[in-house]
Amino acid sequence: MKQLIVLLGFAGILVSCSPKSESQPKVKNVILLIGDGMGTSQIFAGITANKGQLNLERAQYVGFSKTQSASHYTTDSGAGGTAISTGSKTNNGTIGMDTAGKPLPNMIELSEAKGLSTGLVATSSITHATPASFIAHQLSRNDEPEIARQFPGSGIDIFIGGGHSYFADSMNVIQQLLNNGYRMVNQVSDIDPDDSLPIGCLAADIALPTALEGRGDYLLQATKKAMAKLAHNPAGFFLMVEGSQIDWAGHSNDIQYLTSEMIDFDQAVGAAFDFADSHPGTLVIVTADHETGGLSLPNGNLSEGTLEAKFSTDYHTGVMVPVFAYGTGANCFAGIYQNTGIFDRMVEALQLHETP
Ligand code: MG
Ligand code: ZN
Repeated sequence: MKQLIVLLGFAGILVSCSPKSESQPKVKNVILLIGDGMGTSQIFAGITANKGQLNLERAQYVGFSKTQSASHYTTDSGAGGTAISTGSKTNNGTIGMDTAGKPLPNMIELSEAKGLSTGLVATSSITHATPASFIAHQLSRNDEPEIARQFPGSGIDIFIGGGHSYFADSMNVIQQLLNNGYRMVNQVSDIDPDDSLPIGCLAADIALPTALEGRGDYLLQATKKAMAKLAHNPAGFFLMVEGSQIDWAGHSNDIQYLTSEMIDFDQAVGAAFDFADSHPGTLVIVTADHETGGLSLPNGNLSEGTLEAKFSTDYHTGVMVPVFAYGTGANCFAGIYQNTGIFDRMVEALQLHETP
């Protein structure tokens, strides 16, 4: 929807996957699923609680991402999201800007400039650090009303999350979105994916409830609606879906909260893999911005779905996090690389560096 001129210096970026041949199918759609705070222990806690398996295990290629930010060994979700969305490491707390405060082109801007459709889905407010990194430029992740003000001009085609209160502040961003042609709804069930208008769904004042509190199949349905809407664009799309509260469970050192959010997120992962099966040219990436809680699992029982969990911190840790890939171009995600390498591989897959 939005035209903008993007100048990027891609010299020197080498993506470690087999060179494209004429016969290799092109990637048209990228679905990026981020489990905030989801390290290997969080995943295995989910596998254990789910009695031995998750949809995530269908992944075809696995890599590892080094998550350090420009300012800290242990990143926050602002710098972590910005690295994945812009390909540049920045300071903790920063959204879509470099360490000098200069705005960086993000995945939504680059995709819109290439004529792709774009979407964001989260179980937090849609202005929270992770989704914000894909659409906004802001020195402080905490200014969610200002981040909301950057939605109407972004060209995004569908966004689903909490944060109604940030859009309904004195600037009345909801009215601006309506003026810009958006359909605004408050429930996922009110989204018609065949509606030609861009859609905003603000399903909670701030965050959605937890899975344990009865969020139901919100994330699965939101992901399905977003994929169905975005699939109408023959040029393709970029969609980011976040399991936001895996991180919050880690901060709370609450293993039941954590496993319920992991299993909920995994439902969306399964739906994205299914979409890739039925839509050739779709690449699905599942990763995290960092690990949260320093979780270890000294004991468990797979047939009962029970486990013993030990957390070593109530904040994030600096360990590598896995990157799972499925579908067209998935092979490019094997290996060990910086978190910025996820951006490099998505840009390469969608050929976003070729001037439109
Ligand atoms: Mg997050
Ligand atoms: Zn966190």
